[in-house]
Order: sequence, then structure tokens, then C-alpha cells
Amino acid sequence: MKEKSLVIKFQETPLSCHDSMLQNNFDIIDYMYIQKSLFVRIHYYVRLIVLGIAPLGGDLLKLGVHVSIAGSVDRAFDRAEERGCDTFQIFTRNPRGWKSKDLIDKEVESFRAKSESSGIEPVFGHMPYLPNLASSKDETYEKSVETLIDELSRCARLGIPYLVTHLGSHLGQGKEIGFERIINAINRAVKEAEIDVMLLLENTAGTKNSMGATFEDLRFIIESLDEANRIGICFDTCHAFAAGYDLRNEEALQTTMEKFEEILGFQRLRVVHANDSVGKLGSRLDRHEHIGFGYIGDEGFKVILKHEVLGSLPLILETPVDQAGDDYTDLKKMRDLFQSI
Ligand SMILES: [Zn+2]
Ligand SMILES: [Zn+2]
Repeated sequence: MKEKSLVIKFQETPLSCHDSMLQNNFDIIDYMYIQKSLFVRIHYYVRLIVLGIAPLGGDLLKLGVHVSIAGSVDRAFDRAEERGCDTFQIFTRNPRGWKSKDLIDKEVESFRAKSESSGIEPVFGHMPYLPNLASSKDETYEKSVETLIDELSRCARLGIPYLVTHLGSHLGQGKEIGFERIINAINRAVKEAEIDVMLLLENTAGTKNSMGATFEDLRFIIESLDEANRIGICFDTCHAFAAGYDLRNEEALQTTMEKFEEILGFQRLRVVHANDSVGKLGSRLDRHEHIGFGYIGDEGFKVILKHEVLGSLPLILETPVDQAGDDYTDLKKMRDLFQSI
């Protein structure tokens, strides 16, 4: 991944964290916003380098959403640009089925060209819904491992550096079986697939039988893998909150993130899924809410954006789009909260 100094990035793309409307309207407010952000971020940025976390371009706020690839995979860049995203996430295929259409050379070339010209980075791939890496059913399990290998390869072909995966459900067979299955699945997939894609394990809400809801469980999986250096973490705020990790105010967030640092280490963290939560703290309910309208609330997202590590990482919104434009509204909400810090 390209590494640029903060100053160079700042001079090249001073407005990359604004939406297109603001880009046409570079006024004193924007200028103050950038100045303020720059000073706030500069010390965080230095700390990230000291911690050994990839600076990810060193931008001020890296914000994006999950976008559709309908039509052709490269269309994702157009949609991300329309929304003023600095980063985004996609499914590289239809997420609801087992079958995938092969990527064709033309769309791969176009995807890579747009990646180069748009300056939007990084892009995250997300595994489809059906695979279950913890499944005790052999047929589902084998198909899941194959899908993981295929998705890692598709991401590599598209030049996508990260693939996010959920850890699945042990289907009532118990956590030990689940661990065994997941570890075996990841070992096999990582060995067989392209090497330049990092697999990011996403924490889950702790819904019945689901795997990977606690930092300890994630650590156990990572430590048991053959090639742990190729594994990172995706931190989902809704899932963490539903699993019992409080994020609603500065003190609560500090406590949660200190635990994270102690158990998993920030150096593995590559992306934050910024979602508010329909369920209460510890509800184990995996339902995402619009930013500020769930139990994490405005104050929670303010402290998340202010957090020296979380606020400096790419933040991807996976909030519901019930009506056209909901994603624009949630992106704006995050930018407004960032400005109010
Ligand atoms: Zn997520
Ligand atoms: Zn979720």
C-alpha cells in the first residue's frame, strides 16, 4: 500500500473527506475544518506510526459506505465518488447466493483504472452471506472454504487489499468445534489463495451460536492460525455494543479500547464498521441503526471519531438504506459529528 506523509497527502487532496457539494464550495469554514482536523490528527498520526499501524494514506477522516456493484464491479467507484467517500466496501459478487459470475478482464481493468484515478483507498471486500466457516455440516463447510479462497482471489485480481469475513455459527455443536472449523478453514484458504490480500476477522454481536463476539475468542483464533501475520481485525461498533462492550461515552470507550489493545493489539485493526445499534448494550442483537438514532447515539460516535486509533482508521457505514439517500444522510451525520469534536 502506498504510504505518503500526512503533509503531502494534505496538499494533494485537501478536500478528500468532504462530499462533492463541499468541494465546489471551498470557503472559510472548510479551511477552518481542515486546519482543526490537521492539528487534532497530527499527533494521532504520529502515534499510529509509532504503534506500527499502516497510516492508510494519512488522510484526515477516511469515511465511506458499503456500495453496490450492480451493472459492473467498477461502478462501485462511481457510486462511492457520488457520495464523497474516501474509502468503501463491496461484495465482489451477489451476496445472497453460492454461485458467482466470473470477473471479466474488461471490468477488472476498469476497476483498477478507477482505483488509480479516483484516489479512493483502501477498498474493502466483504464475504457473501451464506458461507459459514464454523459450520459442522460438511457440505456447507466445504463450500464456505471454497468461497473464501475464491473471494481472496477475486480481491487480489481487483487489487483490493482487504477481505472482511464473519466467523459463522457453530450451529449448536459448541464453541470448541466452531474454533476448530474456523481455524482449519482460514489455514486452508490463506495457504491456497493469493498472498497479497489480508483477511480481516469481524467481531460479532454474540447472537446465539455465533462465533467471534469477544476479543478473547478472536485472539484465540488468530493465535492458533499458521499465518497470523496475514490476518487483521474489522471492528464493528454495533456488534461490539450488542456483545456488551460499551462505547457510549469517553470513559466507556476508553475502557473497551484498552481491553482491545491489551487482548488483540491495535496493530491488527484495519477498519471500523461504524453502525449504530437497534439493540441495547449486551442485547446480542445484530441490527444496525442510523448513526445517532440507536443506543450508541451521537455522543458515542463523537468519542469514536475522536478516539486516537478508531478515528484515524477507515470508517465504513453499513447502516440501513430504507429510503434512497439514507446513506448520504448517515455520511453527512458522521462528518457533522467529526466537525463538532
Ligand atoms: Zn460489519
Ligand atoms: Zn451486523
